[in-house]
Amino acid sequence: MFTGLAERLQETFKKLRGKGRLTEADVNEALREVRIALLEADVNFKVVKDFVARIRERAVGQELHASLNPTQHVIKIVHDELTGLMGGANSKIKIAPKPPTVVVMVGLNGAGKTTTSAKLANLLRKQGKRPLLVAADVYRPAAIKQLQVLGNQLNVPVFTIGEKQDPVAIGQAAVKNAAANGHDLVIIDTAGRQEVNDELMSELENMNRVLEPDEILLVIDAMTGQTAVHVAEQFNKRLNLDGVVLTKLDGDSRGGAALSVRAITGKPIKFAGVGEKLDALEPFHPDRMSERILG
Ligand code: GDP
Repeated sequence: MFTGLAERLQETFKKLRGKGRLTEADVNEALREVRIALLEADVNFKVVKDFVARIRERAVGQELHASLNPTQHVIKIVHDELTGLMGGANSKIKIAPKPPTVVVMVGLNGAGKTTTSAKLANLLRKQGKRPLLVAADVYRPAAIKQLQVLGNQLNVPVFTIGEKQDPVAIGQAAVKNAAANGHDLVIIDTAGRQEVNDELMSELENMNRVLEPDEILLVIDAMTGQTAVHVAEQFNKRLNLDGVVLTKLDGDSRGGAALSVRAITGKPIKFAGVGEKLDALEPFHPDRMSERILG
């Protein structure tokens, strides 16, 4: 995860570490390298520009820290700013005051929506929730089957009334079923498309208007970098997302989506997919991510 970016940044700071004192030229050279490393990691251009400007302002202004030498100080500033860029603190899902909490999973085909729905049920069950998974991807009968298989593996019930049904009606029936059967969490796997289009957005808008979910989570594939960020922008404009799940972080050596999506959409990454197994979903912690990047 982020190995390419991590290596580049760690190399940059290693050079600084050799120096006793830092001149403004040293800081500028390091920032130039940080900028290139971030651009090569496919971080959004404007995000990089603002990020480097903030670090320069703080590093050159030198709000000195008694216990740190100048190089440690610069690294601390970069760490803090990276953490801020990814949203600061971990952002949890909203729990409905009156159960069940309804979570609608949205996203394009292949991003990992169905797998992530199951992973999320698994994760939140470990935190004491009683989830019901809902198969509302009526365009891909294989997706319904896939969710049933995953639900079976986890021993989490999967609500389905089959294909050729209106996804909104499925959602409504599922919420009723959950309330009747003591489920305090409903996770709805919706239909995606190959790309963002008006039909998909209208369908999801309609579902959200009727169901009034507590959370709309967009699933995006980290490996697609700025494409994922652009998808998030488009979904957010129409659906006012509550958060993002970034999948396939295990295969992402660059980190461009992870570092851009919050700044571009204003919406936090709440969870990260880190493998194909059903326990490979983690709450997203910006500070731990920065530590991983800076070593
Ligand atoms: P959907 O079309 O959005 O519902 O996507 P799927 O849930 O079917 O996932 C597409 C593929 O991505 C599957 O092969 C998943 O196993 C894989 N996948 C999903 N999340 C992750 C992840 O975090 N890491 C890895 N390595 N693979 C993932």
